[in-house]
Amino acid sequence: MRPVNASIITIGDELLIGQTIDTNSAFIAGELNKAGIWVRRRVAVGDVYEDIRIALDEEKKESDIIIITGGLGPTADDITKPLLCDYFGGKLVLNEEVLAHVIHLFEKVYRRPGPLLERNRKQAEVPDVCTVLHNARGTAPGMWFTQENRIFISLPGVPHEMKGLMSSEVMPRLQHAFADRLPAILHRTLFTAGIGESMLAELLQDYESRLPEWIKMAYLPNYGMVKLRLTAKGTDIVTLEKDIEPWYQELQQLANDYLVSPEDEGMEVVIGKLLKGNGKTVSTAESCTGGHIAQLITSVPGSSAYFKGGIVSYANEAKMNLLGVSAQILETKGAVSEETVQQMVQGALEQLKTDYAVAVSGIMGPDGGTEEKPVGTVWIAVGKPGKTQTLRLQFRFDRQRNISLTAINALNMLRKFIIANG
Ligand code: AMP
Ligand code: MG
Repeated sequence: MRPVNASIITIGDELLIGQTIDTNSAFIAGELNKAGIWVRRRVAVGDVYEDIRIALDEEKKESDIIIITGGLGPTADDITKPLLCDYFGGKLVLNEEVLAHVIHLFEKVYRRPGPLLERNRKQAEVPDVCTVLHNARGTAPGMWFTQENRIFISLPGVPHEMKGLMSSEVMPRLQHAFADRLPAILHRTLFTAGIGESMLAELLQDYESRLPEWIKMAYLPNYGMVKLRLTAKGTDIVTLEKDIEPWYQELQQLANDYLVSPEDEGMEVVIGKLLKGNGKTVSTAESCTGGHIAQLITSVPGSSAYFKGGIVSYANEAKMNLLGVSAQILETKGAVSEETVQQMVQGALEQLKTDYAVAVSGIMGPDGGTEEKPVGTVWIAVGKPGKTQTLRLQFRFDRQRNISLTAINALNMLRKFIIANG
């Protein structure tokens, strides 16, 4: 079976000058990939007639599907629609259904006063050689063209609208159009933390070499965590689900010491589930992460059930007054020390009356390091009343990465502490 190939062409000067990050391609590629469609190329072009034409000519040589985003707005720089109309030899005609939708949006949803502007009315004009794809989230419709066994799909650039069209219109139509050529694809993911990508690869070397040809494994590292993904390809999903299971189980066992979750979910979600399941609460005392740990914990809906609050204490004064860290410890051991984070954890537990707490103090850089405590030195403590565990880490990155890594490592330590201490 010949694989189904796709190209993605994103249009807009803003993409070329780095003003807008092309997130559309990533989303579209992900959706196509899930359906077993291979994205062979992603191309970005400016709002330039000839460049767009060339890109279309080029991509249709090898791809069955060409998805285009951008250039459908009501302003002069948006030239995709007339261009596609020329390209496929059609003419622009007013589509009554689209017009009714545009009027509905302006009158009832956006509530814009005054008559419909001519430039907005024009958004209801579509080439008479395309199938219109209904854009429930905006005024510019999607368009579907076919030419010599190729499918061309034009979508608005606004990510929210593009996404709506992809799931409601484009994917169902593509699945249908290529039903006899698309494989069944299944992903199984798990999250690890506390081990780097290379060490993990060492650990899994033998396993990887034994994987059958229809299963591929990917390492996806991100800030202190590595996501492992198995992708199985076959002809039928039910068989795949059954056949991949022993491989997935074995992978979980091999990675068990570092396993955060056998699901595609972040550390903060895992911690939320643990705390909720045990009916326990947590608080934070942060020095070098400025509230980032609390931010991660509270990014999970429903986190107010287990997160009572956090104290961001930078000055020694704040550490003493808000968390009860002793002046003597700060004087003799310093703010970045094991004793300080120990007292910060116990202070948070007392002040916020929680079952667990996590505290961090470190030097994130680029300045402030000493020989004894260089930039990237971090002390982490996790604890419950009367019991504290500490860890010193040393990062070597820029400020932002040091902060993210500190937060993830602190949360991972908290996760293990909760598991070990009920
Ligand atoms: P347009 O359809 O070209 O008028 O695009 C409308 C808006 O969508 C632009 O102002 C961008 O902010 C956004 N946009 C366009 N293309 C992309 C893309 N490839 N990725 C993310 N955002 C985009
Ligand atoms: Mg544009």
